[in-house]
Amino acid sequence: MSTGLNRRDLLLTAGVAGAAAAVTVPSAIAAQAAAPSPKWDREADVVVIGAGATGLPAAIVAREAGSSVIVVEAARDIGGHAITSYGNVPLGGGTSAQKKFGIEDSPDLVFRDLTDWSVVQPNGFPDYRYNDREIVRAFADNSVPTFEWLVAHGVVFVDKAPDDFGGMSVGNSAPREMHAAVMNWPLVPTGKPADPSLQTILFAGCGLMRPLEASARKAGVQILLEHKMSAIYRQTSNGGRVLGIAADHNGAKLNIRARKAVIIATGGSTGNVNFRRMFDPRLTEEYCGLAGMPWSDQDASGELAAMAIGGSLWGLYNQTGEFGSNLTKAGLIGCQYNYVNLQWMPGSAVFDRARASGLRVGNWQDVILVNMLGKRFYDETGQQFTANDYNSIKPYTQESYLTAKNINYNPNNFINAALAGFDDGHNGGGPIWAIFDADAVVREKWEPKPPNVDQSAGFFFSADNLSDLARKIVMKYQRAPMPPQNLEATVARYNSFVDSGVDEDFGKPKPLHKIAKPPFYAAWATPVVHDTRAGLRINARCQVVDMNGEAIAGLYCGGESAGGFSQHGLARATCQGYIAGKNAAAENSHS
Ligand SMILES: Cc1cc2nc3c(=O)[nH]c(=O)nc-3n(C[C@H](O)[C@H](O)[C@H](O)COP(=O)(O)OP(=O)(O)OC[C@H]3O[C@@H](n4cnc5c(N)ncnc54)[C@H](O)[C@@H]3O)c2cc1C
Repeated sequence: MSTGLNRRDLLLTAGVAGAAAAVTVPSAIAAQAAAPSPKWDREADVVVIGAGATGLPAAIVAREAGSSVIVVEAARDIGGHAITSYGNVPLGGGTSAQKKFGIEDSPDLVFRDLTDWSVVQPNGFPDYRYNDREIVRAFADNSVPTFEWLVAHGVVFVDKAPDDFGGMSVGNSAPREMHAAVMNWPLVPTGKPADPSLQTILFAGCGLMRPLEASARKAGVQILLEHKMSAIYRQTSNGGRVLGIAADHNGAKLNIRARKAVIIATGGSTGNVNFRRMFDPRLTEEYCGLAGMPWSDQDASGELAAMAIGGSLWGLYNQTGEFGSNLTKAGLIGCQYNYVNLQWMPGSAVFDRARASGLRVGNWQDVILVNMLGKRFYDETGQQFTANDYNSIKPYTQESYLTAKNINYNPNNFINAALAGFDDGHNGGGPIWAIFDADAVVREKWEPKPPNVDQSAGFFFSADNLSDLARKIVMKYQRAPMPPQNLEATVARYNSFVDSGVDEDFGKPKPLHKIAKPPFYAAWATPVVHDTRAGLRINARCQVVDMNGEAIAGLYCGGESAGGFSQHGLARATCQGYIAGKNAAAENSHS
């Protein structure tokens, strides 16, 4: 999941064909460019890296402004995490949809909401305090144009009043969330379109991304699938303008020149263990259930390539603050990709890599959660962090000390307890296992066999007694064996809590069901790393900024690879794609 690039690689220099300037070249392509100058295999005015929620809008906007555009996409298909999403798009500020339903909003209200220092979560964390004002101002001013632009480019939103469902950190003053209708597009988790009677009311990322793909192709954007950017060329290692990119296409290397600009739309860093651990050292390898994967990865390749030519990071608190969906509780168990809102089914184009659909937990009373050593660590019904959205504080007084006073302080440490680990000198909490019995299977109506559970890769085990179950738990992230006596003791103690009705260890509200009837099961339930909210430093124009505060000429970024904005997802990404595409197309062409 890492790029393999390092700074020394990128400081190798070679000349550019037809230009006197020196460029930086990764060693991966230096061999191919044994000639002192990299050969440009392709060229366009604007080169966009990534065909997700940022990249496709950027590409279409730039193309429609008269620039030729190439998009390189590492995955087999377009869409990125955006196509796996629920298509909830919180663009507000006075959109036509808000007006239609009589909702009052304005760019100023969006800006003030998303920079409000006073808003705190029930656990005491602020969503917006650390947002970059310049970046949020640009978002506030471009939200309405971006929404109308999406509609004009074929995105159909469910015809109902904007609401607050599913956005996260979208502000407390007005409902802003619209939902992209799936129409007749195949849903990525199943590979099939929704029932025709539901197509205008169900919403998902295909309803956002497939129309944008169609618009991009119609406009003449070239989309190169399975082309992974491996480096960005700049005139010197930390000076001059950006010239193009190196890409890898199934082992073949190619160089793509950008006459005007390169736009990084690579979607964040959750999949790169070393990168994400710069923000939070606890996030070790076992957190492999990344939301959005395996449709597309988030390997920090955009951030690393930009940092190698001088780009800076920004707004890092937004990644570690305990709000929103950066880290989530597992919603599915017994499979690697266990994000609650994305259940891969056998018809999906990526099921060969997802391997199992998982068992959806309806009631956390039906399982106990234990750590690698077979010990409980928290009330299983505990939840993840929350996010500040419309109406989550009532009454809400913008930028007032009263907002904090109106919150009932209620910290939830489930995620922190799961990530805490124990005294073995390691960071990270290790695997978390859901332990349950045959009665729980009946209550939950589960079918604990493939393709619902992933036995072959070690994300699901069963046995006729608890000590055999503990012994069977062998997989790559279980760094120590689970002592059978621990699991037996844990279950016996929990069963005694069911008898007494009181969880003396973690205060689970009235434990309901004993774990007693064989067979017994252990299903992967380790927390999920969901999204990235810290990344490259950008300015209001979405230009990447270096460590001296100077914009890097010809380099843009938006979406999850950009920092300074604590909002979850699609609104921020589409809007920054819109801004970056416009500004990239307006650059002078360099031949
Ligand atoms: C399951 C799920 C549900 C979600 N639901 C919502 C929701 O309802 N509402 C909301 O607002 N947000 C939601 N989100 C978040 C939202 O989808 C993302 O924030 C958004 O897609 C980010 O856009 P992006 O352009 O930064 O990245 P992406 O959309 O992920 O696109 C990045 C693209 O870049 C490609 N790429 C990466 N590296 C390279 C490289 N080196 N070379 C070439 N290509 C590369 C990737 O393959 C990918 O296609 C959800 C996310 C997930 C995973």
